[in-house]
Amino acid sequence: MDMLARSVQPWTKTNQFGGYMRFATVEIAGRAEPGLVSPDGQGFAPARAFVPGFTGDLVDLIARGPVPAPVGSVAWQSLAGLPLLAPIPAPRRNIFCVGKNYHEHAAEFANSGFDTSAAKGETAPEFPVVFTKPPSSVVADGAAVLPFAELTQQLDYEAELAVVIGRPGRGISRADALAHVWGYTIVNDITARDLQQRHRQWFLGKSMDSFCPMGPWIVTADEVGDPATLDVRCWVNGELRQQANTRDLIFDIPTIIATISAGITLLPGDIIATGTPAGVGIGFKPPKFLRPGDVMKIAIDKLGTLTNTVAA
Ligand code: MG
Repeated sequence: MDMLARSVQPWTKTNQFGGYMRFATVEIAGRAEPGLVSPDGQGFAPARAFVPGFTGDLVDLIARGPVPAPVGSVAWQSLAGLPLLAPIPAPRRNIFCVGKNYHEHAAEFANSGFDTSAAKGETAPEFPVVFTKPPSSVVADGAAVLPFAELTQQLDYEAELAVVIGRPGRGISRADALAHVWGYTIVNDITARDLQQRHRQWFLGKSMDSFCPMGPWIVTADEVGDPATLDVRCWVNGELRQQANTRDLIFDIPTIIATISAGITLLPGDIIATGTPAGVGIGFKPPKFLRPGDVMKIAIDKLGTLTNTVAA
């Protein structure tokens, strides 16, 4: 047994939900266990260890409202030996996504010839472009992305900041929006460009199994602070492809939440991917599409890294 498996650390901070920093989901004895990641990132404590009688997933935990903070100290087990799942491995419904939400990316997409959704000559959208990916597309940090070679020859990556909703609501104002956010994570909005173009909508080309890598965990909103200050970077096989900051979003997170919730009740555990910056594969001439074996690594300030490999 290593040192961490027996280490005990004080419970030092709480937020409005009583949580601390990072929530992950791991596999223990064949079942998905949501819980806390220790401050040093090396330990894990299942939620059932500090929420009496709790047996649900992370969405259930979020939906309970305030999580009772452990009294005294937490016994961490080593995270290293536990298979990491997506923080929300089985979302209750589709992941909301925003397209063309950074100016330079909107321009590269418009100029790529792959965008069949834009009005002629339009680069930046006038209103948020919203689509969804199904729960079955979600995979964990470290999981393989399936290449679907029989369906697509134009596989692409999109590094994105994702918002996780805590407090439910409809008709949420921009001013109130961030109070509904429970935390943030990283999403890779994998896209088959040929399907996106051919079918003249975005669902099919972005929704295949494994096309929504997510994680490695959710960092609570209080720990992230202002979400409009985060550097987003993406490497493919070590080559830096995307580099931007969330301050450059065309439609900021409050606007996105206000737009979606105008007529749709947002629920605890809903996930919203906020769009990708410039530097996706179709932004290059010639395009740099993904190939089997390619390693995609996304880093966002305060959220860690999400790494996935295209399966052979
Ligand atoms: Mg996207």
